[in-house]
Amino acid sequence: MTGGAGFVGSHICDRLVAQGHDVICLDNLFTSQKSNIEHLLGKKNFEFIRHDVVHPIWLEVDEIYNAACPAAPGHYQYNPIKTMKTSVMGAINVLGMAKRCRAKVLQFSTSEVYGDPEVHPQPESYKGSVNPIGPRACYDEGKRAAETLFFDYHRSNKVNIRIVRIFNTYGPRMHPYDGRVVSNFIRQALRNEDITIYGSGSQTRSFCYVDDLVEGIIRMMNGPDTFIGPVNLGNPGEFTIKQLAELVVEISGSRSRLVYRPPVADDPMQRQPVIDLARKHLSWEPTVPLREGLKRTIDYFRSIDMESFRAPTPNY
Ligand code: NAD
Ligand code: UDP
Repeated sequence: MTGGAGFVGSHICDRLVAQGHDVICLDNLFTSQKSNIEHLLGKKNFEFIRHDVVHPIWLEVDEIYNAACPAAPGHYQYNPIKTMKTSVMGAINVLGMAKRCRAKVLQFSTSEVYGDPEVHPQPESYKGSVNPIGPRACYDEGKRAAETLFFDYHRSNKVNIRIVRIFNTYGPRMHPYDGRVVSNFIRQALRNEDITIYGSGSQTRSFCYVDDLVEGIIRMMNGPDTFIGPVNLGNPGEFTIKQLAELVVEISGSRSRLVYRPPVADDPMQRQPVIDLARKHLSWEPTVPLREGLKRTIDYFRSIDMESFRAPTPNY
């Protein structure tokens, strides 16, 4: 599991360890910290290696989940060249390992491959509208190039691949300073600080609770070799950012005010997954409504000492 100490990766590690698999977690801890996997460190079937996926590593494995990559805009834009290297060289390294070991390899791709979409909602057949020279390009184009590499290794070298395109996911173990909208709003609400809405707040996102996502990813890895993706995984429930802010304030009982900040460059205005393929091939669909998922996430943020977390970069 690359990126295994991160938000989503640590939940995948939990599931695989509980199923009795021998799990190797690779992470350079750029946007995470060991506390996400602390409870696994003593287990016989879990090991952690601090490693940067830009560099090759020699391991014997049967399956690879490739999640290593900063995912929050502020952090992936902090060192954009490194972000592109992580996606592209990370993909080459895991694909090379999969080829040598005849392992199955699953790529954590993203709804960002659709850019600021002109088609709404987004099916997998939509080829996207990405600005290749904008501030988000290091992430979007890096993830697009990784998908290309996955398909070329599959076609040229018969590597057994899977690709999931993940839409905005939230839940326990999000970094309190990762700068993404759910963690920002909850952190601000719990401190009764202003809730920062970038732009008008009319832009939309569709928020998937992490347990639902993890279920979809594991079904995809275990599914038939005839269905390799890309497949959208996300919750089709679509909300404006202003609605999200209001919901967080209401559920947390906060005294925070909503304040409006300038819009960020190339911010996608709408995003909602079509999940027909996941329904058909994986019998998967999300089960946790936003209100319930936010309650659980707010409980998590209440349970941690936010002061003990180090911000990965100043951009949160
Ligand atoms: P995260 O930042 O919590 O996890 C990413 C992990 O990768 C971190 O632990 C980080 O330290 C590690 N990492 C970064 N660069 C690395 C490198 N060069 N070498 C080794 N490790 C490195 O974010 P997340 O939300 O858990 O995202 C996991 C994956 O899912 C990412 O690939 C992301 O692009 C993808 N994704 C997530 C979402 C979402 O909403 N959470 C949406 C779309 C795609
Ligand atoms: N956003 C916001 N306030 C914040 C953080 C984010 O209004 O404090 C907005 C951001 O401009 C975007 C949406 O929330 O429109 C989702 O942002 P996020 O960084 O979580 O992920 P994205 O989907 O843009 O990758």
